[in-house]
Amino acid sequence: MKNKPVNSSRTPVYRDAGFELYDAETTKNAFSLETENQRTPDLYIYSRYRNPTVTAAEEEIMKLEACNWALLTQSGMSAIDTAVSVFQNGNLTRPWLFFSEIYGGTISFIESVLKKRRGLKIHTFNPDKEKYSLDELEKILRDIDPEIIYVEAVSNPMLIVTDVEQVIELAHRNGAKVIVDNTFATPVLFKPLESGADIVVHSATKYFSGHGNITAGVLCGNDMELMKAAIEYRKFVGHMISPDDAYRLHTQVQTFELRFRQQCLNASGITEILKNHRAVRKVWYPGLTEHASHKEAIKLFGGRGFGAMVTFDFDGDLAEVKRKRRDRFINAASERIKLIPSLGDSKTILMPVESVWGAKYPEPGMIRLSVGFENFSLLEKTIIEALDTTL
Ligand code: PLP
Repeated sequence: MKNKPVNSSRTPVYRDAGFELYDAETTKNAFSLETENQRTPDLYIYSRYRNPTVTAAEEEIMKLEACNWALLTQSGMSAIDTAVSVFQNGNLTRPWLFFSEIYGGTISFIESVLKKRRGLKIHTFNPDKEKYSLDELEKILRDIDPEIIYVEAVSNPMLIVTDVEQVIELAHRNGAKVIVDNTFATPVLFKPLESGADIVVHSATKYFSGHGNITAGVLCGNDMELMKAAIEYRKFVGHMISPDDAYRLHTQVQTFELRFRQQCLNASGITEILKNHRAVRKVWYPGLTEHASHKEAIKLFGGRGFGAMVTFDFDGDLAEVKRKRRDRFINAASERIKLIPSLGDSKTILMPVESVWGAKYPEPGMIRLSVGFENFSLLEKTIIEALDTTL
């Protein structure tokens, strides 16, 4: 017997692993419709395929990225795997081109899964002096004729902003599709699908969930054929998010824009404090006129903000002096600013760059701050006091 609907304004957590299909005829209909890969089927079959709590959360994210479809996965990495894999076509797959300054986990995935296990032809595109030359990109596109280009709108930890609009134009002119990891920029600053990107991915673990308590990913797009391929891939490899996480994400993502705007304001305030403190040698923040890709940030973000990540380095003649200052800062700030290897949380958190990226970035004192939306005066006080202890 069917349950009576309840007068709730929310889609509840449907924890059904398999849904009731009543009789042989309904079952036959459900399974034949299943092959159409609709995001919201008439009849749900099995939660690894599709789930109503998940589709309700996806609707909320579609509004944010202003797109035709969004598919939730159980992590940012599984969203990335799904996004790239829909373009894989056996021996016919043309090379894939990845911008080099991307999340370290994505780089490891490229090395150990895409290259080593799947044997794909992968090329990387490097920046020169903290900036990508798009003239150089055009030459590479002609040389290697890639199937896809993969780029992060804002890179990590140097916060290089790429003129993604121009990348999309160049790519499409040269027959390549574009996947944008928009985790750092978020749709508040830039909506790549409005500029013609083919797929946008997010680690929803970060700003979309915003409280450091959900691991999730999402891929978004407008092309319905790509959506069908992605639904099928998500189903076959089991990259589906759980209904419980989707329910919590659905709630938390409703405050995303409000939170992120405040985070951007706090980050720009903290940037000023860092810039004006004697203990600090350099600050990387796209809002600074001296930032290598400030012009790109102005163009792409159109005054909506410059993000909520700030990287800085301590002053000092010797590497050891810088490391000492870094450690003193981390220690002094630790009551209020925790060392947590993530970003986008409600509270400000930090990461020592050298401990994570090794010698890739030659400044040993560097710290990456993910600025939260807590009270600014308290944050300001903590940072100034912690910087003072390093002098
Ligand atoms: N993309 C970016 C830019 C990230 O920073 C991360 C994780 O830090 C990921 C993707 C992977 O996301 P997840 O940890 O949710 O799998």
